[in-house]
Amino acid sequence: MSFNITTFSTALYSTWIMVEELNLLIDAGDGVSAGLLGKSGKIKHCFITHPDRDHLTGLPQFVQLNSRGEWPKIYYPKDAGSFPALSHFLGKFDPHVQGVTWQGIADSEQIEIKKNIWVQALRNEHVAAPVGVHKSLSYKVFEVKRKLKPELQGLPQAEFKTLAAKHGQEFLTTEQRINRISFSGDTPVDDYAKWDGSEILIHEATFLHSEADGHIEARGNRHSYLEDVIRMASEINLQTLILTHFSSRYDREQIDEALRKLLNKYALTIPIHVIYPGETKRDVLKMEPFNA
Ligand SMILES: [Zn+2]
Repeated sequence: MSFNITTFSTALYSTWIMVEELNLLIDAGDGVSAGLLGKSGKIKHCFITHPDRDHLTGLPQFVQLNSRGEWPKIYYPKDAGSFPALSHFLGKFDPHVQGVTWQGIADSEQIEIKKNIWVQALRNEHVAAPVGVHKSLSYKVFEVKRKLKPELQGLPQAEFKTLAAKHGQEFLTTEQRINRISFSGDTPVDDYAKWDGSEILIHEATFLHSEADGHIEARGNRHSYLEDVIRMASEINLQTLILTHFSSRYDREQIDEALRKLLNKYALTIPIHVIYPGETKRDVLKMEPFNA
């Protein structure tokens, strides 16, 4: 399965990610419609990670340009009150969007967005909230396949029919879940196991490590340091890493230099793509990786 991923992601300003083959948008920061133009009309499912304004202020334009009956469907962390407020406002502001679906979702909940393709929500620790309160989510995209149970391999055809008739078709197979894409949303690095086995991990890396960064971070919601992301990536099983959500205080040279050092330090060799501040990147995976 290959993916055409287009994204813009700069901390504080805007984050959005479109996966064309899945008709999927994750986050809808400012400029998403202008960045995608007609392609935004292909989006059917839009998952928002949390109510920070840099992740949702593209919704009014995206929704009013692309609403058609109940579509697009918009999913958000169910305890974030910004979304019902926005949906109510947009219904008045642009009455033609009143049919659009707004659905709050909780940790672990999954939505089938295409046949055998599921998006699962995962709580993260960007916003301090008690367990059971859902204000900030990460998302994982799974492809579900069914495989013949190994113990049934080589069975005569007639026996399959008998077993299926007796126990149902599903009895013959086991479910295999392949984690095609993971998106961290805004979050500090915490439990490595969350992302282990992701084919493509899109992870935020707001801060290059420095003491000055720490001061800024302490004032607001929690974010990731590039070094923590690279260390984690070196210890788990990933195929590709896409780094997003850098702070605009860094220029390209500073990011490149910090990343080069860290890749050396942690001997990380999987392909890495960098989404620099202020850049819209189209078909990210077709581009030469940073460390090619
Ligand atoms: Zn953000």
